[in-house]
Amino acid sequence: ATSRTVTSGSRILVFVRLRPMGKKEKEAGSRSCVRIVNCRDVYLTEFASENDYLRLKRLRGRHFTFDASFPDSTTQHEVYSTTTAELVEGVLQGKNGSVFCYGATGAGKTHTMLGTFENPGVMVLAIKDLFTQIRQRSCDGNHVVHLSYLEVYNETVRDLLSPGRPLILREDKQGIVASGLTQYQAYSTDEVMELLQQGNQNRTTEPTRANETSSRSHAILQVVVEYRVRDAAMNVVNKVGKLSLIDLAGSERALATDQRTLRSLEGANINRSLLALSSCINALVEGKKHIPYRNSKLTQLLKDSLGGACNTVMIANISPSNLSFGETQNTLHWADRAKEI
Ligand code: ADP
Ligand code: MG
Repeated sequence: ATSRTVTSGSRILVFVRLRPMGKKEKEAGSRSCVRIVNCRDVYLTEFASENDYLRLKRLRGRHFTFDASFPDSTTQHEVYSTTTAELVEGVLQGKNGSVFCYGATGAGKTHTMLGTFENPGVMVLAIKDLFTQIRQRSCDGNHVVHLSYLEVYNETVRDLLSPGRPLILREDKQGIVASGLTQYQAYSTDEVMELLQQGNQNRTTEPTRANETSSRSHAILQVVVEYRVRDAAMNVVNKVGKLSLIDLAGSERALATDQRTLRSLEGANINRSLLALSSCINALVEGKKHIPYRNSKLTQLLKDSLGGACNTVMIANISPSNLSFGETQNTLHWADRAKEI
């Protein structure tokens, strides 16, 4: 019973992706505490044996159901086609869409979004699909595709394709834009992976761990497709569709889902953008008229891509290890909440 009624053209689909147990986790003697049944139900248990899920079903707060749940054997293509392919279709019809990866550091967000050269993730597969579909649709070069890739770190916005000084957000006719952000005109998929890998290297690193991407950095890839169509009166109309793909900061420092906890955490040195995103989702869940987009850089940038008439997808990434039990439980609760929009 997961089907939900869709109100005012807005909807959010929520998925969970379990990653395989890592080498370090195995060496630390960790056991799996997550079971996925029928690609939908997620059971969280400290003692996962093969056949106890019927009993577990009765344990409240330990059984979750999502639009789909991906076991650790799921390929990047399967994740892409189930979560994002439809949004790419939408973008080609002038509809905005966004895909977020949410989860603790190490849970598999960057693997899901960016992936590797051998195993490209959602960002790359989406662009590849987009080019394939554009090629099928028109041979007249009608579609123009622009990419931008930026980072929000510590409420500072930076261009990942052309690193330099922080960018200033300003509001214009098209909404909120980062002034001076590189708009890269893309012609083929081949160049894109290289570009994104390079961009990812430009993400802020934690001073203490120079080679690791900061767990507090959000990376946002925006793909804008512009094209012209003729309306019923044969007038030429410009159409624009935008796809936003977001590799969020690690959720371990901002796991609060209710308003009271959110407020008590404000002012503490936690990730303002991630909290603001939670607040916006809460407001959308509660059907509020006012959605507090202005509270952070991330939510300002995504104002036209969250709620309203756009398609939103959340992928909650989790580790199987019992050493991450608490983080996994928090991630699943957060995703469960987001599902109510
Ligand atoms: P995050 O971005 O959430 O901090 P990463 O995507 O960097 O996490 O993943 C942590 C580690 O786990 C990386 O070494 C990554 O290659 C590996 N990993 C994550 N998801 C998968 C997966 N589905 N299959 C194989 N390895 C994965
Ligand atoms: Mg990452």
